[in-house]
Amino acid sequence: MTIREQLEEREAEYLSPYAARSKDSKGRKREEPQCDIRPVFQRDRDRILHCKAFRRLKQKTQVFLLPEGDHYRTRLTHTLEVSQNARTIAKALRLNEDLAEAIALGHDLGHTPFGHAGERALNNVYHFSHSEQSLRVVDCIEKDGKGLNLTWEVRDGILNHQTAGTPHTLEGAVVRLSDKLAYIYHDMDDAIRGGILTEEDIPAELRDILGNSCKARLNTMIHDVITNSMDSLEVHMSPTVDRAMKELRKFMFENVYLNPKAKGEEDKAVHMIGQLFEYYVKHTEALPKQFRDALEETDHAKEQIVCDYIAGMTDSYAVKKFHEYFVPGAWKI
Ligand code: MG
Repeated sequence: MTIREQLEEREAEYLSPYAARSKDSKGRKREEPQCDIRPVFQRDRDRILHCKAFRRLKQKTQVFLLPEGDHYRTRLTHTLEVSQNARTIAKALRLNEDLAEAIALGHDLGHTPFGHAGERALNNVYHFSHSEQSLRVVDCIEKDGKGLNLTWEVRDGILNHQTAGTPHTLEGAVVRLSDKLAYIYHDMDDAIRGGILTEEDIPAELRDILGNSCKARLNTMIHDVITNSMDSLEVHMSPTVDRAMKELRKFMFENVYLNPKAKGEEDKAVHMIGQLFEYYVKHTEALPKQFRDALEETDHAKEQIVCDYIAGMTDSYAVKKFHEYFVPGAWKI
């Protein structure tokens, strides 16, 4: 018996009846021989961790654009926090931790430079949603267009990680909620660090229910999800905590995400991404070879291929490209 088979047997004995078992996966689009050590979801987790799009997350905005302070979150640290929350919850509920981790590490791979401003910019000029894009990254952009050939369950969790999505596994539902818990926690922490908010600005009734610090609130929410979802077919919080979380999220939208102090540079980012899009649609010869090949060899619209390229850029790379095309260079001799 291989190590992988032993691990699969352990899953069968140990995991909750509602967990997704590696052995019962609906499989990959292209069949492959199994690994002798790792069950399928563990293998997918490793593929995501090793892909190039994952490494670029370190230079992509979470909320604050190109922050100079060392302690603000980036898309990478956000992803790691989502993964940590998801693993804590999945482990406590005896769900498949490897599946939850794989989905969490992959969920934001399709995020544009400059966070939701970049997403808005691409959606203004074409059609763009970061969760659909995350799936494109793992399906047909990574590995020079060959994709990572992930399992159905990981792909489903990535595609359905947003509020409106309905993941088909409980592990997917855990990640969808863990994403919210993570950003409510760390975006508030960063907003306080950045002087956008103080702890006292948070409505007292929400602090009474959830706690009096960012850390205490995360702790309350994670405990509440676990105790209310034990041996259940759903991942959910108690009505009181759920309501308070939604209120807090609304408060964050009004006071952080749409705060002109934090978002002052966003219009410029939207303009810049829009300009880059127009440029590449007119000058497809300026695209890297992989994307030029995709224009020739696939039936995707030109605009889609340009979106794929721009969405993959880091904040600083997008600025660099904008400079290259639109800012006159100094004479150097
Ligand atoms: Mg996220």
